Amino acid sequence: MQLQDKVAFVTGSASGIGKEIALVYAREGAKIAIADLNKEAADAAAAEINAAGGKAIGVAVDVTNEAQVDAAVETTVSALGSVDILVSNAGIQIVHPIEEFSFAEWKKMLAIHLDGAFLTTRACMRHMISSKRGGSIIYMGSVHSKEASVLKAPYVTAKHGLIGLAKTVAKEGAKNNIRANVICPGFVRTPLVEKQIPEQAKSLGISEADVIKNVMLKETVDGEFTTTDDVAQIALLFAAFPTNALTGQSLVVSHGWFMQ
Ligand code: NAD
Repeated sequence: MQLQDKVAFVTGSASGIGKEIALVYAREGAKIAIADLNKEAADAAAAEINAAGGKAIGVAVDVTNEAQVDAAVETTVSALGSVDILVSNAGIQIVHPIEEFSFAEWKKMLAIHLDGAFLTTRACMRHMISSKRGGSIIYMGSVHSKEASVLKAPYVTAKHGLIGLAKTVAKEGAKNNIRANVICPGFVRTPLVEKQIPEQAKSLGISEADVIKNVMLKETVDGEFTTTDDVAQIALLFAAFPTNALTGQSLVVSHGWFMQ
């Protein structure tokens, strides 16, 4: 039980990677706020944790909305007692060549990935500082925090930006024992990726099988997808690590797609 008595606020945890992190944290003893735009799915994920003997609540939040983020963190602190771990994970993908991106789509991508990271960080840090319990802040980056791919200009831009935010939070947070790190996964077969396969096939004029083999997994060492559990295990490492020795870092988990 590596997270006994800890409370985790995990955004985008009604689905995919975030949900797996919530399940792993709950098994390690943490109380979980499933903070997601999709309240019905968030409540279902929380019910799954509660049925297994854990403690979780579903919280409706749009991470791009300042008032909703502040209220969701307040609700979490009132219901679960504190907030010790933030996993800023909510995200979407929109793919187009740059010349076809609308400004509205660009702004939507930056709002979810970067405004969401800032707003959740600020709300959680305020509690981590006032409670004097410190905390661990984890951003869901991507191999696209380190590397570019065609068709993903706002995603690559935002995911690179998260590393800058994490390094700054690491420096400002240290005096209050707040750590910040970034997880950089390769392709994981979640709904976010399933949606991209036909879209990329269309944009690139190739088959869906070729998108998987020759685009998504081409540079891996073994042609394998990264799994939600692979990512959740790194999220556990960052959440449970007890000191500022591990802060301001970004860790790639991608079957060797990107090597530092
Ligand atoms: P997913 O689509 O399975 O889950 C994303 C969740 O975020 C959904 O439950 C959705 O309702 C929620 N969400 C979307 N917009 C929101 C908003 N404005 N406010 C609150 N919640 C919102 O996707 P996933 O693949 O699990 O992705 C999770 C994170 O992992 C994203 O940041 C994504 O960029 C990142 N990531 C994914 C992969 C991959 O291959 N799947 C790889 C690297 C990084």
